[in-house]
Amino acid sequence: MLKRVLAVLLAVLTLIGSCAFGEYDYDDNLTVVAMFGDQGDFVYTVETALFEKGYLQEVCVDGYFDEYTEQAVKNFQYEKGYEADGAITKLQFYWLSRKYYNEWFDRSYIVYITPNGTRYHTWNCTALENSLVVMPISMNKADGLGYLPCRRCNPTLGY
Ligand SMILES: [Zn+2]
Repeated sequence: MLKRVLAVLLAVLTLIGSCAFGEYDYDDNLTVVAMFGDQGDFVYTVETALFEKGYLQEVCVDGYFDEYTEQAVKNFQYEKGYEADGAITKLQFYWLSRKYYNEWFDRSYIVYITPNGTRYHTWNCTALENSLVVMPISMNKADGLGYLPCRRCNPTLGY
């Protein structure tokens, strides 16, 4: 129990340390979105992302979250400094693949900001290409914090 509390605390501290977004809502991102025993289209997507990033062999992309998938997730988590428990959270999935994250989680709601930026962007904006730290945030929250829509990608279009 204590170990788990410490792990969560560490994860939160890591998040706070890696960005300066005091208003950022962490809780939702700590939700586990796929773990051992799960199966289906979302697992298939997670496996595809793991394959594309070199953590999983293509033959293991089958829609079943088995021991191979779990080991691939653990390797990804270990490499990114997360607790390697094999269960992938929403935020970890975001870091694994921004592309698939946006396919599965309401893309109209989430925009992206950088620590030094003043504007928010769509996930595929070319202005984000050179940013080491990119954080997802709801458009409402970004608006509330005073961020403006990027003129290049215009994230307000189509919403
Ligand atoms: Zn942009």
